[in-house]
Amino acid sequence: MAAFELERLSNYDDQSLINELKRVAELVSSDKLSRSDFNRLSKVHASTLHNRFGNWRKALAAAGLEDRFDDRTDMWSRDEIIGQLQAIARSTGKAYVTLNELGTQIGITQRPIRRIFGSYRAALEAAGLYQSLGGVRYTDEECFENLLTVWTALGRQPFYSDLSKPPSKVGPKAYVGRWGSWRKALQAFVERTNQDTSHEEPAEQTPEIKTYVHASPKRTSRNIPLGLRYKIFSRDCFRCVLCGQSPATSTPPIKLHVDHAIPWSRGGETVEENLRTLCEPCNLVKGARLE
Ligand SMILES: [Zn+2]
Repeated sequence: MAAFELERLSNYDDQSLINELKRVAELVSSDKLSRSDFNRLSKVHASTLHNRFGNWRKALAAAGLEDRFDDRTDMWSRDEIIGQLQAIARSTGKAYVTLNELGTQIGITQRPIRRIFGSYRAALEAAGLYQSLGGVRYTDEECFENLLTVWTALGRQPFYSDLSKPPSKVGPKAYVGRWGSWRKALQAFVERTNQDTSHEEPAEQTPEIKTYVHASPKRTSRNIPLGLRYKIFSRDCFRCVLCGQSPATSTPPIKLHVDHAIPWSRGGETVEENLRTLCEPCNLVKGARLE
């Protein structure tokens, strides 16, 4: 009968984990030390070493055992992959995990995922994450609107990290996931902004349409496109043009609006010359005065 041994390690610091890895490595006679062999003989699960050292190869390297790592036999089980996906989702607080996160955090490649699940999407589904992925998928428009909100609140171009704090509602990873990098996401925003402001509204409606419109026809729509709002905020230095307050310097942060100086309902057009930045209080005062 084997000597009595605790089923748990008494200590979980790096050195204790390395010692455990070395102990198990001694027990395995084959050249390579697979995670499944390790799990069979160890008092600690291989996933604990993954989380501590980054991945299995790095854990072996930390114990001076890198030569016992074998890519071909580093087989992931279906349950392990599901467990890792769920663990990453918990640790990031996000309802989904990108393939890139899985790769960098756990060192797992697409190959075993394809082999076991058929596709990455199927793996996410199996981990109960694909549903949520749909739930948090923002449209380009929502991403741009959120970026404009943050930009306006800061009065400057946001950094990647600004997107993970209020008033941002869309995390920075959503941008990187969609556009490839933070810089490219900003570039897409700028392009969108230019597109909104350079495009000319049709100067006149066609006569056929005019016959159905009784009031004097308008050139522009009441809705102020995102790019134009950005341009007005930026022109007015992200401050209320009446009282000078800005979200970046007021506590609590004041909200800014783009206002039609001549109200749209009174013939004012949605054009740069008729638009200005107002804070919410000034905008309310103006609204009350017009009633
Ligand atoms: Zn104001």
